[in-house]
Amino acid sequence: MPSNPLHILRVNARELLRQPGMTRQIHADLDATDLGVQDDRVAGVIDVEFEAVSSIDGIVVTGSISTPWRVPCRRCLTEVVGTARIAVDEVYRDDVGDADAFQIEGDQIDMAPAVREYVLLELPDAPLCRDDCAGICPICGIDRNQTSCECDTSARDDRWSTLDRLRLDDD
Ligand SMILES: [Zn+2]
Ligand SMILES: [Zn+2]
Repeated sequence: MPSNPLHILRVNARELLRQPGMTRQIHADLDATDLGVQDDRVAGVIDVEFEAVSSIDGIVVTGSISTPWRVPCRRCLTEVVGTARIAVDEVYRDDVGDADAFQIEGDQIDMAPAVREYVLLELPDAPLCRDDCAGICPICGIDRNQTSCECDTSARDDRWSTLDRLRLDDD
């Protein structure tokens, strides 16, 4: 077990580029803290499966990242769990002519920054526990999925739905 788990995400670029078509498999199970991701939404080990293939002028990395997450429902605050599966397709080059490519640093490609970026991008912001979640009564605070109350929430309900709409527009 290497002292720094992120070493797994570093690949010797020269070795691969010497022979176009060479491949390297990378498999890593990472903690969010190892990765430098300070985010309460990450609920477990981040699973990384990559294949790096060299071409004439770069290294193409494809594969997937699976991130288990745990986020409160935006209406009723019940914990919602899921897994974000992200498809990765990146190019690493010595000469980053187009902005889409990552830089080969010295002799290495380091995929940690890309993994970090993908993980943070794909974590859900405000999920619903289910599409028709009834939410919490804004007056008495009961979970309206579990039970009902007699509160008159007609005015406040409008505000909730406006908030929901705003959040959906963000997506
Ligand atoms: Zn809910
Ligand atoms: Zn109520």
